Amino acid sequence: MIPETFTASLWHATAPEAPPLPPLEWPARADVVIVGAGILGLTLAITLARSGVDTLVLERDEIGFGASGRNGGLVVPAFPRLGPSDVIQKLGAPGERLVAAIAGSAAKVFGLIKTHALSCEAVQSGWIMPAHAQNRMAGFEARARDWERFGHTVEVLDKPACDAATGSGWWHGAMLDREGGHLNPLAYARGLARAALEAGARIATGIDVTAINGTSVETSQGLVHAGRIVLATNALPTTPLPGFSASVVPLHIWQMATKPYSPELVRTVVQGSLSLSDTRNDLFAVRWTRDNRLVIGGMAVLLQGAGARLAKRNAKRIAEAFPQLGPVEIDQVWHGRASLTPDLLPRLYETGPVIALTACNGRGIGMNTVLGEALAGYILSGDASQMPLPVDRDMRSVPKPALAAFAPRALLPLGRLKDAMDRRT
Ligand SMILES: Cc1cc2nc3c(=O)[nH]c(=O)nc-3n(C[C@H](O)[C@H](O)[C@H](O)COP(=O)(O)OP(=O)(O)OC[C@H]3O[C@@H](n4cnc5c(N)ncnc54)[C@H](O)[C@@H]3O)c2cc1C
Repeated sequence: MIPETFTASLWHATAPEAPPLPPLEWPARADVVIVGAGILGLTLAITLARSGVDTLVLERDEIGFGASGRNGGLVVPAFPRLGPSDVIQKLGAPGERLVAAIAGSAAKVFGLIKTHALSCEAVQSGWIMPAHAQNRMAGFEARARDWERFGHTVEVLDKPACDAATGSGWWHGAMLDREGGHLNPLAYARGLARAALEAGARIATGIDVTAINGTSVETSQGLVHAGRIVLATNALPTTPLPGFSASVVPLHIWQMATKPYSPELVRTVVQGSLSLSDTRNDLFAVRWTRDNRLVIGGMAVLLQGAGARLAKRNAKRIAEAFPQLGPVEIDQVWHGRASLTPDLLPRLYETGPVIALTACNGRGIGMNTVLGEALAGYILSGDASQMPLPVDRDMRSVPKPALAAFAPRALLPLGRLKDAMDRRT
């Protein structure tokens, strides 16, 4: 068992309070019941409620309790590993719409923040992906040309430009997307909740949805009658839809925040407050916070005691990449669960009145924001031809889900070995 760390995060210590929620009247009823108050459920709620749909969000714990309130806060308008042509090849026409949506996803996130005046430390400072190995540079050129074909500009930086941008000589060059940035993710989730309430949606927390029978939603507090039901639970095992959680592989990610650095030192590392995630298999992601802390992401093989081990390991990685920072002292360590699909693409299932969507794959801030809006369009129109995803009627389980759950961690040592070998080439 991994100890619960939601309240241990820097975001929990610094985000504005969640909006007050009026008590739900029982028995409850809504045109659309959304299960899960993360980025997906909340952006969907905003869009539906603004269109006049009676919308109710039910959350088991509190707003942003899942990956949405614990993540690194990097806003990345790109797919994990895949380029736009790969996505279109896999998904066809919906893939073209998904590519357009992701290209505009950072603009959508920062636009939403501006429209609703969300106080979430948002900075549209750019996202940089530096190459840990020389052999990644050719791929960067191809990826930038690929995005260019879809009207999205991504720059390729050679080593001197990358050194200047990162404040480090550790990498070989980089891809830079100036539309990316970062934010305080729990503050974003709580802000989205406030915007959903203002739009007319209802949100109730501390309500565990235990089963769905037709249009009846059974919860720990009573029955809710719904027209449609959307499961925005990130395919967590608590999702009340048999088989949904077996359609993803859980990926455990740790985040940690350093003590604050002096403004002089901050200016020497990832200039202009870019958010950074590099090309290693062994996840390495960093970004500054408003109060001059570095937030670092990483993965561990063994879950027991992983936070403390990773704090040491990441302190070493920071010292290697940014020796000018001196000793690295970690203040907070927390953990979250991401969900991976085998092809790293989102999945949308529809069965009767129930829709279930998982779009995590470690890049959910932009992805889920645009998919929440798109899903609202589908619910309002019933027109699947405008969705940026195919609508699946059959649940696709990952092969041997119980074993697959260990795969990301079991393969991590191999990934680390490959990173080290790649670096030598
Ligand atoms: C540690 C970590 C770091 C990450 N870093 C980044 C990053 O830097 N940038 C990025 O873009 N993405 C990142 N991601 C991915 C991103 O956080 C997710 O893709 C996104 O937050 C998923 O949002 P969601 O709304 O689908 O799900 P979640 O935020 O997980 O919300 C699901 C909600 O459903 C609720 N729920 C579950 N079961 C029930 C039930 N039975 N009844 C009622 N409620 C229920 C849960 O309590 C939860 O609040 C990261 C993920 C993790 C875990």
